[in-house]
Amino acid sequence: MESSVLVRVRVAPSPTGDPHVGTAYMSLFNWAYAQKTGGQFVLRIEDTDQARYVEGSEKQIFDLLAWLGLTWDEGPDISGPYAPYRQSERLDTYRPYVDQLIEAGHAYYCWCSSQRLTQMRDEQAKAKLSTTGYDRLCYGKTREERAQLPGFSETPVVRMLIPDDMDLGFVDMIRGQISAPRPDDQVILKADGFPTYHMAVVVDDHLMGITHVVRGEEWISSTPKHILLYQWLGWEVPAWCHMPLLRNTDKSKISKRKNPAARLVWFQEEGYLPEALLNFLQLMGYPPTDDQEVCSFEDFVADFDWAKVNTVGPVFDVKKLDWLNGHYLRALSEDELARRIVDYIETYQADGLSRLLGKRSADWKQVVRQAVPLIAPRLVTLKEALEKVRFLLVDFVAVDDAARAKVAEDAPMVLPLAAEVLESLVDFQASAIQEALVTGLVDEQGLSKKTVFAPIRVAIAGALVSPPLFESMEILGRDESLKRLREFLRCVH
Ligand code: GLU
Repeated sequence: MESSVLVRVRVAPSPTGDPHVGTAYMSLFNWAYAQKTGGQFVLRIEDTDQARYVEGSEKQIFDLLAWLGLTWDEGPDISGPYAPYRQSERLDTYRPYVDQLIEAGHAYYCWCSSQRLTQMRDEQAKAKLSTTGYDRLCYGKTREERAQLPGFSETPVVRMLIPDDMDLGFVDMIRGQISAPRPDDQVILKADGFPTYHMAVVVDDHLMGITHVVRGEEWISSTPKHILLYQWLGWEVPAWCHMPLLRNTDKSKISKRKNPAARLVWFQEEGYLPEALLNFLQLMGYPPTDDQEVCSFEDFVADFDWAKVNTVGPVFDVKKLDWLNGHYLRALSEDELARRIVDYIETYQADGLSRLLGKRSADWKQVVRQAVPLIAPRLVTLKEALEKVRFLLVDFVAVDDAARAKVAEDAPMVLPLAAEVLESLVDFQASAIQEALVTGLVDEQGLSKKTVFAPIRVAIAGALVSPPLFESMEILGRDESLKRLREFLRCVH
């Protein structure tokens, strides 16, 4: 069936704060399906909840999805044949459908004030009623009739009249036949004249020709109401697909309040690569079958199949992401990795950088580029790079106390000898530095490698563990390396 129909999918985030990682997760699966089928992917902004609207959130949605490479064929920023793609600009579109439902007797006005509704709910809770929800006080009444009763509000809402024999079951593409609990008489038009999500989503998905509604499993309970609206309006019902919710390691639902990683921008701020995050999100929906955890975006799309989606809420384990990020960092060319590190530092660590830069490091980008092969093997995120190259950029290296104590005894003997060897070295280059130090101090003086190299490393890098020593010295150059050996010697004397 699908081959003859142009697949149109969408993601429909609400601009209510900085974007949730779930927006990227949903976009990824929608996008992959559109790619796989030669279909189209639409971005629609669902901003009918004015109370929760947050300025700037929409731009973050655009920027972060673009950062991930999840490009849309139609959307508020690029328009398209079904524009506008922002619900607040479509308000005139919804009202006639609401009127149509009222006229057909599928919907009715409700003038109950919010105080009355709260009181009704409290009473229902106290009476432990088996069926709760709106008690239909307004149903069948004119405005005048209702105005005689308590708890009347001037501006009505419009509610769906949920039939007693409503069909609560539907077919989900990854879950098969499922059903949801019976809904309340859902509000479809609010007192401010805005449609609720339920009305707007159905009208827009229909008018925009959406063939497959792919969204989070939290919407399963709303789907029967949506199907009812499609049927009442005489429209073809789309296919449904509810993706499992991302979960914390304790299995609770991932939320921005509890987990910083629920904020999509967190991954950018922490220096994760978009490639790694995409791969990680793929694994969330598609657990690997044969430990094939690294999967390129192209392979993911080529093999895309809803049947592979795991319905058990995937656990969002950032350790796995760290591992993937390391993999993708190392898969980049050295030039590209250097470029990304530089971009990251300029965007997120400009203050930290300016604090540590000295007169020697005007060309810090060049130093980063030279240091890439040294730091790449252990790099987990772009954020860590600055700390790892710090000793190559500063004018004075801060020596860690524990490291100083460890080498204090050998340093006064080793460092003058090392300085002497290095002063006369013709070509100040990593392998020559190593060879000269081994020949001059290990072979000729009979010292152990540890005795020789630990004090040199502490003098050069400030710590007992550092990126490769000889390559670091080459980057620093002869003068700076000798200066560090002498400075450290002064402080251990
Ligand atoms: N605006 C809804 C959300 O942000 C979209 C739900 C849907 O895809 O139908 O979750």
